[in-house]
Amino acid sequence: MANKANAEIGVIGGSGFYSFLDDVTEVEVDTPYGPPSDSLFLGKVAGRRVAFLPRHGRGHHLPPHRINYRANLWALRSLGVRQVLGPCAVGGLRPEYGPGTLLVPDQFVDRTLTRSSTYFDGLPLPDGTVPRVVHVSLADPYCPTGRAAVLRAARERDWEPVDGGTLVVVEGPRFGTRAESRWHRAQGWSVVGMTGHPEAALARELELCYTSLTLVTDLDAGAESGEAVSQGEVMRVFAANVDRLRGVLFETLAGLPATGERDCDCGAALGGMDPGITLP
Ligand SMILES: [Zn+2]
Repeated sequence: MANKANAEIGVIGGSGFYSFLDDVTEVEVDTPYGPPSDSLFLGKVAGRRVAFLPRHGRGHHLPPHRINYRANLWALRSLGVRQVLGPCAVGGLRPEYGPGTLLVPDQFVDRTLTRSSTYFDGLPLPDGTVPRVVHVSLADPYCPTGRAAVLRAARERDWEPVDGGTLVVVEGPRFGTRAESRWHRAQGWSVVGMTGHPEAALARELELCYTSLTLVTDLDAGAESGEAVSQGEVMRVFAANVDRLRGVLFETLAGLPATGERDCDCGAALGGMDPGITLP
């Protein structure tokens, strides 16, 4: 099955992660849910076949709430991907999580409003098959093997990560008010982002391993008293750290198990329940 349009690991992130790779193959994929954010870019890193998908599309034209998350995960799986890494930019909710912090969350809280967040909604697909109602467990939303691989890779690259924390996912595209920021912090949550949900939940429904890596680009709403976050500053901090983040990602890819040797439960998330549709 190893052909040019075949991959084992997916990375959902921008062109900064793949544009310099030699021998990248661009593949257009369609899905029953419509097209994904962009073409998928297939390349080889550390001997692994990796599919990169620009989450916001080339040129960053899709705001977080208009990303077709269902199509993105479906497209990755249809190429053979079983493990997904989802790097994203976030705001830090605590003063100690300043710009440049790498936090690997172990929980998220969904505060989004308008997104299609399940494949199992009882609505027929274009081929006439109808998904059944299936409730997957999301108590631990991230792959333990993937998390461990990221933490190990970051330490090897001398970037001490924050191990664990709660990512609260908001609708966006606006940044939060100071009151929202205070509230999120008072709940004990760690960082705030706009894309972590439904990505992780959909990956679980497709029995994919999913690991979130968050890069803090700002203190959310100045974490109360400081300067408010601006898009320019977020972009600047992300660009300043993209090489490091790519280094950690690539180190992580080398440390992930082969597809047939996953030692986690992610690949059995449906527990033998029949979803009524055939996963790609
Ligand atoms: Zn897993």
